[in-house]
Amino acid sequence: MLENVIIIGGGPAGLSAAIYLARANLSPLVFAGSPPGGQLTLTSEVENYPGFESILGSELIEKMRNQAKKFGTRIVDENVLKIHFGNGRDVINHVSTNNLKYQSKSIIIATGAKALWLNLPSETRLRGKGVSACATCDGFFFREKTVAVIGGGDTALEEALTLTKFAKKVYIIHRRDFFRASKIMQERVKENKKVEIIWNSMVEEILGDKKVEGVRLKKIVPLLHGSIVENKKTMKQLNNETIVVDGVFVAIGHKPDTDLFKGHVEMDEKGYIKILERRSTSVKGVFVAGDCADKYYRQAITSAGTGVEAALEVEKYLENLEAW
Ligand code: NAP
Repeated sequence: MLENVIIIGGGPAGLSAAIYLARANLSPLVFAGSPPGGQLTLTSEVENYPGFESILGSELIEKMRNQAKKFGTRIVDENVLKIHFGNGRDVINHVSTNNLKYQSKSIIIATGAKALWLNLPSETRLRGKGVSACATCDGFFFREKTVAVIGGGDTALEEALTLTKFAKKVYIIHRRDFFRASKIMQERVKENKKVEIIWNSMVEEILGDKKVEGVRLKKIVPLLHGSIVENKKTMKQLNNETIVVDGVFVAIGHKPDTDLFKGHVEMDEKGYIKILERRSTSVKGVFVAGDCADKYYRQAITSAGTGVEAALEVEKYLENLEAW
């Protein structure tokens, strides 16, 4: 069967596109991935999605899925493993999952981004044994315990605040002496008595054998707009500071989930898909939405908006295809 449109990704971008395309009677097919839902399923309360004063990320995604299905979207909770893009009028795009091959006149890539890790051997070894990238998923296990959050962006501060609901103490370990997070989040962590901020420090090792028992820190001097450098002068005095913690939450940013498309569509040096104009990519009939093409805004609502833009462009593209 030749599909009108296949959407790869089941986060706010993919599902918003699906709602519009389903209501345009184009019967979209969404590959939502496994596990489905994207980053929103890993956050706690969402307070900045218009219409919802406070809602769990996973609940918001569930509502979007139901809304998309109600209008005729088919959602498959599988990963796309292989693609072959045609280029416009005569050539069909192919998408394969583990078992099946699909064909489509158009594609929307909405695969989002994934959390980054510190890449320390001790971090890999202790993942799931006290090392996590999701306070909402794992915070519950740290009731009345002490935890550390790594990072200085909105994600790190949000994770820290989530953890204060469970833990008795939350360290934020950051490699600079200022946060890049929004002012309101900075105020909230600074006001919270359970939070202690450790500036100018990087995690050298996560300690513990079968579970996390602490972190060994390295003091550094960050240049304001430049790279992070070690503080040679104070190294001796400050090096190897160890703090005792039961859990470590890594919150240092994201990588676009676009490896599948390397060599097929144009990307920038970090792997974000290039938008040529109005959500179109370097391949005719292939459009893009959400965090896999957005390194600046990365909000659920901006992702949803770009999903709608991509859907409207697909509608126009398919109309023109019929008219050729
Ligand atoms: P981010 O803004 O890129 O921040 C990443 C943080 O991790 C930075 O402070 C960075 O340090 C630090 N970092 C990176 N690599 C590191 C390493 N190897 N070791 C130690 N620290 C490291 O990422 P984010 O916090 O995930 O936020 C991404 C975007 O989503 C932002 O635009 C943010 O505003 C948005 N966001 C919004 C909300 C919300 O509105 N509710 C929630 C979450 C995220 P440096 O500062 O030194 O670079």
